[in-house]
Amino acid sequence: MEIIANRILNMEESATLKMANLAWDLKDQGKDVISLSLGEPDFDTPEFAKVAGIKAIEENFTHYPPVPGYKDVRQSICEKLKRDNNLDCTPDNIVISTGAKHSLMNICLALLNPGDEIILPAPYWVSYKAMADFAEAKVVEIKTDITTDFKLTPEVLDKHLNKDTKLFMFSNPCNPSGSVYTEGELRELALVFDNYPNCFIVSDEIYELINFQGKNFSIGTIESLKDRVITVNGVAKGFAMTGWRIGYIAAPVKIAKACVKLQGQFTSGANTIAQKATQAAVLKDPASLTDMKNIFEKRRDLMIELLCEIPGLKINKPMGAFYLFPDVSHFYGKSVEGETINDSDDLCMYLLRDGLVACTAGTAFGCPENIRISYANSDDQLREAVKRMKASFAKLV
Ligand code: PMP
Ligand code: GLU
Repeated sequence: MEIIANRILNMEESATLKMANLAWDLKDQGKDVISLSLGEPDFDTPEFAKVAGIKAIEENFTHYPPVPGYKDVRQSICEKLKRDNNLDCTPDNIVISTGAKHSLMNICLALLNPGDEIILPAPYWVSYKAMADFAEAKVVEIKTDITTDFKLTPEVLDKHLNKDTKLFMFSNPCNPSGSVYTEGELRELALVFDNYPNCFIVSDEIYELINFQGKNFSIGTIESLKDRVITVNGVAKGFAMTGWRIGYIAAPVKIAKACVKLQGQFTSGANTIAQKATQAAVLKDPASLTDMKNIFEKRRDLMIELLCEIPGLKINKPMGAFYLFPDVSHFYGKSVEGETINDSDDLCMYLLRDGLVACTAGTAFGCPENIRISYANSDDQLREAVKRMKASFAKLV
């Protein structure tokens, strides 16, 4: 008899983490692998956040915290949301969790009944689909491609929404495409949502500080939608605090309470020390935090310039995050040494084996024509990675 439950057997392993693990394994074997697979800033946590964490230990913030998070930390998050996003919240709207991933899972489990419809514009972040599947929801994917910078138009959105659609979930800036919706584009989409009042919108803004076109616009500020947007954010990307594991939501009180109930049974409140470090991070004026963003922008330009030299690769210019999501379908059907590349999974495995470069297959993001390249790596490593990729692509005939 199978000991593992079907819900786990039926679950896909996280493609981002799987590829990262493969790269780590090869590195352990002494192979000179360049990892462009994991979405993680290659910077260290800023000093002010580390100091706040150390102070929290010294001041004995080491006991169980309230399930939704310390009230003063939630208050600081409200101040941040007002200052940066023009969102009006009170601590009752905020739930702090163990990473934005946990926040998103709370939302899916708290809101989706089996069979409920959730719309995911593709490319979507890998775990959205796994979470929705886990909640036994019906996932409706809306495919976009590189010709429209992977953005939805109001017409396409309207075609897929219906009166029973329960959730719409997207990231802006987007992982994996790096695309950023402008305020104007979001206002146009909002006019469509106005006709579907039962649909809640999950706006994952974890890359908000890595936006090269200006200040990120939060869809939750649009008057007609403000009571049905759940804004998700965290400190992993903007503050290089991936390991601290703190994410949070700003949601209508009823939804926040449901997430607290869920979290109260499964995980309790998030790590106390990391909460205090998060407080220091969110209170920091983002205007003083542009160094990392500027470096990412330069790397984006470098990578586009280098990758454009690979014939057959279709590439666009994303305005945020730290990913490129080129269309590599030109290479499908081509072979090397008797092995045919049929899809982005084959291609990523080939690039890893032949070029020792780890990228993530687009399949897991709902776009099998693409691969995701994270440029959160040094200029030298990026140059070397593209050199190797170019050589590997050239062998495919
Ligand atoms: N949302 C998106 C779009 C992401 O890329 C990630 C990756 N970390 C997360 C959520 C999860 O963030 P965290 O590390 O805070 O769990
Ligand atoms: N979010 C990052 C990524 O997309 C980290 C890995 C993960 O959490 O799945 O690569």
